[in-house]
Amino acid sequence: MTHLETVRKWYPKAKTSIEVVDKFLDVIENRLGLKPSQLMHADSLCCDDVNTIQYPPRAMELLGPFHLGGLNGYPFAGVTGMNAFAHHVPEDGAVVVFYAPHIGITKDGTIGEIHRMGQSSNSSCCGAAKGALGKLLNNEIKEGEITDLDYQMNTIEQIFLKQADRIKSAESQIFEATEVMYEAINERIEKLVAKTNYPCKYVVLIGGIYINGDRDMGSFCEYKRFDYIDLSTNKRINLMEDFYA
Ligand SMILES: [Zn+2]
Repeated sequence: MTHLETVRKWYPKAKTSIEVVDKFLDVIENRLGLKPSQLMHADSLCCDDVNTIQYPPRAMELLGPFHLGGLNGYPFAGVTGMNAFAHHVPEDGAVVVFYAPHIGITKDGTIGEIHRMGQSSNSSCCGAAKGALGKLLNNEIKEGEITDLDYQMNTIEQIFLKQADRIKSAESQIFEATEVMYEAINERIEKLVAKTNYPCKYVVLIGGIYINGDRDMGSFCEYKRFDYIDLSTNKRINLMEDFYA
């Protein structure tokens, strides 16, 4: 079985992250007539080093990335981050926001873990999501408790607590927790997008799940949404069919 087939048992629409970027750039060129150098890119991904190690090289052809994300890809840079990056865009171009929680899948199909470089055993991925899930299962999360010292982690804990029954009763709790995380990020990105001005032609929004493999597997991605806003009309156009064509 190929690594992609292993990943697709959990995420049937996943592609390798190399293929994802190639396809994304094709769709943008065909539909919007824009080159990578006209795209200002922000990502909202977990700050885990594995996401830097497995960052698809071709994504570096875009301008950026500006990092909006903290633990597990939640856009902790907030309104200030969104506005700052949006004002760096070429005027004839587009702002591209890619956001995704991440999750590990090992060669043998174990979800929520990966084998990292130079280590003899697997470790959690996303570590923050697994940590918050552990606290949820032990009933250790207190409603409303967000501390200064661990602000990002506590925010994730509160997100999980709101969906406690759904996560606890799931067949794979880490899979479900990652879905919950995606929905929370998606909702927050929508709020941030509405509060931002864009001195350009288009805003492109891509949400998905970023999947890390073991050190020699590379990374994968499944898109959950891919659409753009034409800023001259404020119309939203869905590009998912183009992407999966
Ligand atoms: Zn993480």
